[in-house]
Amino acid sequence: MLKNKPLIIIITGPSGAGKTTLLKYLPSEKFYFSISHTTRSPRKGEINGKDYYFVSKEKFLEMVKNDEFLEWVEVFGTFYGTAKSEIEKAFSQNKHLILDIEVIGATRMRSYFGNSAVFIFVLPPSIEELKKRLEKRGTEDANKIRERIQRSKEEIKFASWFDYIIINDDLEKAKNELFSIIKAEMCRPFRNTYWHDILNSIIHE
Ligand code: ADP
Ligand code: 5GP
Repeated sequence: MLKNKPLIIIITGPSGAGKTTLLKYLPSEKFYFSISHTTRSPRKGEINGKDYYFVSKEKFLEMVKNDEFLEWVEVFGTFYGTAKSEIEKAFSQNKHLILDIEVIGATRMRSYFGNSAVFIFVLPPSIEELKKRLEKRGTEDANKIRERIQRSKEEIKFASWFDYIIINDDLEKAKNELFSIIKAEMCRPFRNTYWHDILNSIIHE
């Protein structure tokens, strides 16, 4: 149970930058990882309802028509979207909400959440390293890797729009930066609800 107002973290960055790897360090007792809907096929080891809700294009478009998404995008013929119900789940469980989404979706979230959300961009140390990581991960074929690298170059141009940039070169350092951002954001007066009581008790002493 969180004592303070929960965080809303929007994390973005090129495919292969290390977002999933970094987010694994955050405990699920305190953080709710929004599960997106997608029309892409599951990768080896991915579980429906855990990594994504894997749905058909028809089902996805029906959800769009029914206004079930807070935001959605089409990337190289694949649809991805954040269902409104995911946000409600996080808040009903009183957990911090984490959204791992691409750049266009992130900019839409700013108009939805305003300054109450924290926007983090995960940057790889270089395009060569990004390519290496995608090849090593082995979840996409050479064509798809090329597409993702191409798109990454466009996404990276938006990095300075974010509140924070984490350069994921050394993983331990990147992890510590993520923790530091979370700690600092939790000290903001509008999230910390019990400094009031301390202040009042001091003033009325
Ligand atoms: P994303 O979620 O951003 O697409 P992943 O978390 O899947 O990226 O990471 C892509 C690949 O890079 C994975 O195989 C992961 O183990 C590896 N990786 C992540 N961070 C680092 C790092 N700092 N140094 C080296 N490899 C990394
Ligand atoms: P992947 O296919 O590698 O899982 O994801 C590809 C990209 O889609 C990543 O940049 C990821 O952050 C993004 N993505 C995943 N879910 C959503 C979503 O619901 N909305 C948006 N806008 N992007 C998403």
